[in-house]
Amino acid sequence: MIRTPEQYVEGLRDGRVVYQDGERVEDVPSRYPHSVERAASEYWVATHSDYVDLFTMIEDGERIPFSFKVPETPEDLQRRRDILQTLTLLGAGGSRLTGIDGLNGVAFGASKVDAAMGTHYADNMAQYRAWCKKNDPSICAAVSDPKGNRRLHGEDPRQAHKDFYVRIVDRNNEGIIITGCKLHISQAVLANELMLLPSRNHNETGADYAVACAVPCNAKGVTFLATAGSAGGGHPMIIFDEVFVPWERVFLAGEWQFTREVATSFARYHRLTAATYKSTQLDALPGLAMLMAEYNGLTHATRIQDMLAWFAMYTTVTEALGRAAALTGSVDPETGQARPNPVYTNCAKYWFASQWHEAMKYLQDITGGIAATMPSMQDWENPEVRPYLDKYLQGDANYSAEERIRAINMVIREGSTFNGVLSIHAEGSLATQKMVLYQQADWERFKAAAKYSMGMPTDHPDYKDRLPVGESPWKMPESLLKH
Ligand SMILES: Cc1cc2nc3c(=O)[nH]c(=O)nc-3n(C[C@H](O)[C@H](O)[C@H](O)COP(=O)(O)OP(=O)(O)OC[C@H]3O[C@@H](n4cnc5c(N)ncnc54)[C@H](O)[C@@H]3O)c2cc1C
Repeated sequence: MIRTPEQYVEGLRDGRVVYQDGERVEDVPSRYPHSVERAASEYWVATHSDYVDLFTMIEDGERIPFSFKVPETPEDLQRRRDILQTLTLLGAGGSRLTGIDGLNGVAFGASKVDAAMGTHYADNMAQYRAWCKKNDPSICAAVSDPKGNRRLHGEDPRQAHKDFYVRIVDRNNEGIIITGCKLHISQAVLANELMLLPSRNHNETGADYAVACAVPCNAKGVTFLATAGSAGGGHPMIIFDEVFVPWERVFLAGEWQFTREVATSFARYHRLTAATYKSTQLDALPGLAMLMAEYNGLTHATRIQDMLAWFAMYTTVTEALGRAAALTGSVDPETGQARPNPVYTNCAKYWFASQWHEAMKYLQDITGGIAATMPSMQDWENPEVRPYLDKYLQGDANYSAEERIRAINMVIREGSTFNGVLSIHAEGSLATQKMVLYQQADWERFKAAAKYSMGMPTDHPDYKDRLPVGESPWKMPESLLKH
């Protein structure tokens, strides 16, 4: 079924425990009306005649959200991108941006654990997915643990305590009991379900940390501590204090050998999601840079044009890599699940994240010092001083001071610490993408290319039958030669 926006809003009134800036939030929709509206809009969009064919599908005679379908082809991955980009452009959604990646990543890992260990996690996942199709929840991926000392594993006695990674503290016939914390879980206060999975690999001695499961946001023992000053709960810290999870919602419980598989499987989907929403957001940056150059009367300068060309490349390459990651994705023969191309999806995330500060450098360079010293918009609203701003903060006479001031304020917002940290760390710090690239890049093919270029023999199928370097496949007939 597809829920209505009203059903979604009422669903947030489920007794969940949320704290914002030191106070208990009594009613989520009333405390965060704008963010709830934005999230609820995803449900409104899904049944709108313009979007219903993109967002939903018919399965067994019932209309369900397409996002809950197992992706089976690269085109399915691209369709999920189209959904995310549509939501971003409409200013809707967010409360299941990450959760679908959690669902698909954990589903893939669960099948692999079952195949190797004879467990039945994939059955649990199939039932959970069927429940999602029927109930249409908002769902968030809760992955990042507090970690404590990064150098140490969770169970290491040199850690200040044992709970820096969510762990199983007890288990019985009905289910498991988990304790720990997940950090920075985007939009989680606005979700219905949390998909927990490990943030890293764990060893045999840390088998209790090998846990993946689905937990409702109002489960007993779950407490949200919202981001300071946030208007929608932000990216809260979530405490799990002896939370009971029934077996049917457990997808990994002690199989430490598969923690890396589950974590990277999630990341493979999630970095595609990142490049997807980001590319839509990045589209505004070349425009902002160009407008700022126009307002400042700078478009004639070749060094400014150089920066503007770079901006066009920055955003275009992000979209191109995301699209390539989806459309060159592969279908796993055992599970039938389509997954993004691991190299392209990690390149996409690394590219936009590693270049963000370069983009801000150019933007701030073009804008000038006013991006650091801008008077308040409250002064703009004050008729006593507004004429001064209007007179002295105008640039090129073809544009109003107000246009330039709006652009300056956007440069200030884009350059915030939040946006910088979001780019670098959300969806995994830069090092994690490089780790995957080092592991997944086709080194045999790269080496064969190098050997071929040096005239050395190679057995690689892409190179072994090629003509030696320098020889063309077409030979000019003698008759065309003038001796
Ligand atoms: C705005 C925002 C939204 C987010 N949303 C979500 C979300 O919805 N769900 C979710 O699960 N997470 C979310 N995250 C968390 C994000 O995935 C993490 O911040 C990221 O993985 C980095 O982890 P960390 O913050 O613990 O930093 P760290 O991992 O501590 O990174 C700090 C530095 O330490 C390095 N480092 C860490 N460990 C080691 C080691 N063992 N050896 C050498 N170097 C090391 C890193 O490479 C990095 O350079 C979000 C983060 C942000 C900022």
